Amino acid sequence: MDWLTLSHLARTEIEALQNRAIKKFFHHELPYSSFFRELFEKHKLKFTDINNLEDLQKIPFTSKTDLAPTAEDPGKSRRFILQPDEKLIKKFAPKTKLLKILGQKIAGLDYKKNLEWEYKPVHLHFTTGRSALPTAVGYTSRDLVTIKKTARRLFQTMGIPSDAVVVNSFPYAPHLAFWLTYFATSSLQLTTLQSGGGKILGTPKIIDAIEKLKAKVVTSIPGYFYHILREAVAQKRNWSGLEFVVFGGERVSEGLRGKVKELLKEVGAFNTKILATYAMTEGKTAWVQCSEETGYHTYPDMEIFEVVDENGNRVPENTPGELVYTSLNWRGTVMVRYRTGDMIQGLSWKTCPHCGRTVPQISKDIQRKCDFKEFRLTKVKGELVNLNAFYPVLSGIKDVDEWQLEISKVNNDPYEVDEMVLYIASKPKVDFEALSRDINRKVLSETGITPKIVQKNLNEVLQMIGMESELKEKRIVDKRPKG
Ligand SMILES: [Zn+2]
Repeated sequence: MDWLTLSHLARTEIEALQNRAIKKFFHHELPYSSFFRELFEKHKLKFTDINNLEDLQKIPFTSKTDLAPTAEDPGKSRRFILQPDEKLIKKFAPKTKLLKILGQKIAGLDYKKNLEWEYKPVHLHFTTGRSALPTAVGYTSRDLVTIKKTARRLFQTMGIPSDAVVVNSFPYAPHLAFWLTYFATSSLQLTTLQSGGGKILGTPKIIDAIEKLKAKVVTSIPGYFYHILREAVAQKRNWSGLEFVVFGGERVSEGLRGKVKELLKEVGAFNTKILATYAMTEGKTAWVQCSEETGYHTYPDMEIFEVVDENGNRVPENTPGELVYTSLNWRGTVMVRYRTGDMIQGLSWKTCPHCGRTVPQISKDIQRKCDFKEFRLTKVKGELVNLNAFYPVLSGIKDVDEWQLEISKVNNDPYEVDEMVLYIASKPKVDFEALSRDINRKVLSETGITPKIVQKNLNEVLQMIGMESELKEKRIVDKRPKG
């Protein structure tokens, strides 16, 4: 079904469509994953027990722990790949498929080639976890058709016109952000510079290209876009053609959105929409806002989202909780009731006031629970400090240009107490002492601590956070010895 039709169906029609897809997926596809065969057997569940949205709740949750490779078990994520063999096909494939295979066999056709098209992983993405080992997520040839379809929907949801010139400034890497932009722009036939980001093409050429190509759309990691925009302002560039800035890869704080808006005016871009995407590597695609105010528009034929409370019970529409993801129309690596670790304000079925689409929307403000668990809730001086709070506080202070937080031991002595140093590059002509007092006051009220503040110039801080060379900015560095 085309996106325009699908995204305007009534809720009952969308749910009926999902229920049909659930049967197809759980009865005939999911049994090809050895992880889920074991999981279902362990919980005395049959694949045919799952027939609709309600039934999903019978299935236990999965999480990063089931999926992420460990030193002892590096191939863990492979068990989430659908890998049918002759025996499994005979047992689980629908009759229509069995007949098709039989027909191809009789006609002497290469039926194995068709199965490979559907099931053999040919394209890989990796997670960028800072604490866990990277997890591989595999796409089959069939999935590459699917990802292109969702990538086109993403651009269509934002309302990007067909004459738009796009600059893709995401880092060239086996990650969703770069490739999704590539798949969207190439299959929509948009003129695009797939720059590969600062590390590949280089920041000066990207700044140049946005001006010379009169780019209407730039896709970027939020922090990197702020960086190139600041450069463009300093060089008095003309980016007046810019209509859409599409952020991915990291969350966008309201503070950063505000700063970007201000700076855009200085390069002549007055009516630029700043749109954020929500994505996870395991979900294989991304979802986008259609306007700055709305939530992320989902693809109900491709996945199912549920929201659960801390006890794992599904909560009603528009109720806060953790987002849980289930694949519906993918092959290769698939997820079922995967706890994303993302806390949302709610899932909404209300017709979007901006675009009139009726698909479920994920509320726009997302807090990453796993950040807290894995590396953001850390013990400094024996106290638990919410390091996540540094992002909105510092990006919300107008006179702070760039920053990095470093946690270390005094004198590098492992037995010494912890120390937090906040390196700050301020905007030019700013009274640094007054700024330090302002930072201290705001940081103290949000985190309960008073870091030492050290002034640095902009280039030093950019080097330290690896703005040009790293895939992920190093905003918070923990230099304490492990253990
Ligand atoms: Zn909308």
